[in-house]
Amino acid sequence: MLLTSNSSSESHIASLIAAFAPDPDWQRDLYRKLHANPELSGKEIETARMIARELGRFNAEVTTNIGGNGMVAVFRNGPGPTVLMRADFDGLPVKEESGLEWASHKIDYSGQTPTPVMHACGHDMHTTALLGACQVLDSAREHWSGTFIALFQPSEENGAGAARMVADGLAEAIPKPDVCFGQHVIAGPAGQVSSMPGAALASCDSIEIVLTGQSAHGSMPHNAIDPTFLAAMIVIRLQGIVGREIPPHEFAVVSVGTLESGNSNNTIPGQARIVLNCRTYNEEIKAQLYAAIERVVRGECKASGTTVDPTFRYFAHGPLTDNTPEVFRRVRATFDQVFGPDSTDATRWTASEDFANLPEAFGAPYLFWTVGVTPREQWDKALAEGNVAETIPVNHMGTFVPDYEPTVHATTSAAVAAVLTYLRK
Ligand code: ZN
Ligand code: ZN
Repeated sequence: MLLTSNSSSESHIASLIAAFAPDPDWQRDLYRKLHANPELSGKEIETARMIARELGRFNAEVTTNIGGNGMVAVFRNGPGPTVLMRADFDGLPVKEESGLEWASHKIDYSGQTPTPVMHACGHDMHTTALLGACQVLDSAREHWSGTFIALFQPSEENGAGAARMVADGLAEAIPKPDVCFGQHVIAGPAGQVSSMPGAALASCDSIEIVLTGQSAHGSMPHNAIDPTFLAAMIVIRLQGIVGREIPPHEFAVVSVGTLESGNSNNTIPGQARIVLNCRTYNEEIKAQLYAAIERVVRGECKASGTTVDPTFRYFAHGPLTDNTPEVFRRVRATFDQVFGPDSTDATRWTASEDFANLPEAFGAPYLFWTVGVTPREQWDKALAEGNVAETIPVNHMGTFVPDYEPTVHATTSAAVAAVLTYLRK
């Protein structure tokens, strides 16, 4: 997509990024340290300390411990708009299989079983890029005016961090942002920056359904109301909602993540538990989907003759990421200028993010874009051979690690470019 723009000011941004590029050794060391030391959601204490230490290098007001390990750095630089850029910094319970020298060997021992931990979603790259952007903007102060807020968010993977920062007084720690930005690394040509207006990432909910039947000896099914049989019928029928009820031009996902029932060879259990993960791109379809799920479950319970109503618990909510068209239009013009053919149209991502909770808390417009991480040769080969899905590592896999140089350059530059779109002099 090519958009008309004031090309002199955007090329000015491109040259500013080049002139004030962060020290590459500092940024690489920082990335490797973050990558080698991932921490699970809500337990990012050392990572938060590391970020706070780095922020101490800059002329900024830093507030830590917002919503747990969250923090903000406010760079005030005269009159003008207030722009917020967010990076998340939690890792995942995934065993790293990259074989890299700076791979994580971290094991979390705080739970019942030791858990390997990895930055398998690239949040270490988001943090490295935002700290790099802080460096650029702090040293290029004479070229911009306004207020820049760098927000570092914990607990993205469990969908809790952004809302927790909002609930824990974020609004008192920062001036109200006029616009908010966030980015995510994904599988794709390394350094390619992709953006789109409107719904870009899905909204999601998990739903725990408990079915209560009637337990009996395995030899006496006539005395039971078998919740296992009931759960099996529900699992089958749920897939009919997307297939038969949601309009074909709309998008919805219903995945059964957990199905539990019984624990012996000769007892029909009394209860079964189903946990669903659901994704949609708009509120009407979401309402239709959840109503249909509850109707199917209640209907099947009736068909089985249960005497206790099923229960529904909605959790792990992720809001829709719905990019503001006007913000997209302005920032995309800068991206096109800075990245040339590597500024591309994003395709909708069925993943979800809790980023939108931040701008929504302030009623601020926003843009969330993605940056590719896959080595170009590997990507082109997979495309040519038609085996992208089979051969390219994606987020949350133990082999998902960015091609460092092009990715750090693009993520850092994109952050600076978006911020300067609003703050340049
Ligand atoms: Zn993730
Ligand atoms: Zn992520």
